[in-house]
Amino acid sequence: MAATRPKVPSELRRRVLLEAGHRCAIPTCKSTPVEIAHIIPWSKIRKHEFKNLIALCPTCHARFDDRHGPIDQKAMRQYKANLNPLLSLGLANRDGQVAMLAAYQEFRGFFAEWVKAETRYAAVKSRRSSSLKEIADSREDAIHKVARAIGAVADFHTVWGDSEVSDLAGAIFYHIADWSDEIEGTPFPLPRRVSQRNIAEEISEASTELHLAICEQISM
Ligand SMILES: [Zn+2]
Repeated sequence: MAATRPKVPSELRRRVLLEAGHRCAIPTCKSTPVEIAHIIPWSKIRKHEFKNLIALCPTCHARFDDRHGPIDQKAMRQYKANLNPLLSLGLANRDGQVAMLAAYQEFRGFFAEWVKAETRYAAVKSRRSSSLKEIADSREDAIHKVARAIGAVADFHTVWGDSEVSDLAGAIFYHIADWSDEIEGTPFPLPRRVSQRNIAEEISEASTELHLAICEQISM
């Protein structure tokens, strides 16, 4: 007899819908109504877990379920990672979880600003036409953003302690910091191999891993 598939529990369903703001999680779609989709098919894992669930409209759900369709699991994991898990926590949740997710949101926000500032600095420092003042200004902004990212990663470690999640956050930090050092330490004008690195792409896999590990922790 085939295993019957239980319904997604209503509280879990509610959290997945809240996380996506009750709209399709594909950012260029955002349609309503939405359904709950499994990133790894239910037939493979046979359980409903927050980290594996995402809200999709029926059209995107069908495109994703079509094995030959355009949306693969890796892309879907990245869409999940772009959602805001903080929204999924109800007020009934423990304070500890709220603090953990707040530290994660801070980490995400400050790291995004840091990467943006470094990218700008690299672009300015690679253009032969840039003035010394433009270079100095973009450098100063990057240094300011590094300081905030260091603060965010320190807070993150304080709240999350020694864990897989902290290790992943640390790995992301060091990857960006190495690139930042390279921009700073390479003379003007920066060669393309330094200025045109796509750091967001380089850290995207680790960022997705971090996000899903956090989802797992908070849905305990
Ligand atoms: Zn959609």
